[in-house]
Amino acid sequence: TLKSKSAVVTGSTSGIGLAIARAFAKEGASVVLNGFGPAEEIAKIKAEIETEFGVKAIHSTADMTKPDEIAGMIRLAEETFGTVDILVNNAGVQFVSPIEDFPVEKWDQIIAINLSSAFHTIRAALPGMKARRWGRIINTASAHSLVASPFKSAYVAAKHGIAGLTKTVALEAATFGVTVNCISPGYVWTPLVEKQIPDTMKARNMTKEQVINDVLLEAQPTKQFVTTDQVAALAAFLCTDAASQITGANLSMDGGWTAE
Ligand code: NAD
Repeated sequence: TLKSKSAVVTGSTSGIGLAIARAFAKEGASVVLNGFGPAEEIAKIKAEIETEFGVKAIHSTADMTKPDEIAGMIRLAEETFGTVDILVNNAGVQFVSPIEDFPVEKWDQIIAINLSSAFHTIRAALPGMKARRWGRIINTASAHSLVASPFKSAYVAAKHGIAGLTKTVALEAATFGVTVNCISPGYVWTPLVEKQIPDTMKARNMTKEQVINDVLLEAQPTKQFVTTDQVAALAAFLCTDAASQITGANLSMDGGWTAE
């Protein structure tokens, strides 16, 4: 159980992050949600978590491209709940384009959100975890932290980067009861995947069905999408005592993709 623990999950107004926040709340943790979306929708997500699981949930509007807002989010969490015991760096965006046409500002944005934001959250939250001798840091990496696909230069670079950051911080935190791991899903059916289909259709000159079957599911030997709840269950497991010796690991959940 995660009663008396508090968790910050970046990018948790949608998809994988939302499923992880709900899984932690189900175990009794208070949660700090983060991410964009219509105010009414976020209020509804927050209220559902509070009534369904009997925990407190707050929302931070921090933009993961802005280091000062990221520091503010960790401060808000510590002021509201006293501690940040669990940190999930999950916010992420995708952009698909051949590198020659890849917009410079898209490169900078993806590196900032998918990689640098984790540096900023960790440096703010780790001191408290070390002082209390307990902490869990989980980074949502990707199969693209291990292998590449064409036209995703920034995303693949950022995800390989977060895998390296994970190992480094795991070593620095190892004797303090703080574990640091990343989860590397294959394709999970979320808005992030749905939104890249039109650009992939263009980049590869394919129909939507061809992109789903010949690009996305082609990568996964199981021929099935991973579900957000499956990723969330692994994140929840990493917070248990049974997982206290799992650190510095990059845990794949990709239907066999990276076994090929
Ligand atoms: P999603 O689009 O459903 O959710 C992304 C979340 O990040 C949203 O809450 C969004 O508001 C938030 N976000 C985006 N930009 C932000 C910013 N600047 N500041 C704060 N929050 C921001 O996507 P998802 O598929 O759930 O992706 C979550 C993570 O999982 C990402 O890191 C992604 O790279 C990774 N991932 C996804 C898949 C997949 O197939 N969906 C596979 C492997 C890894």
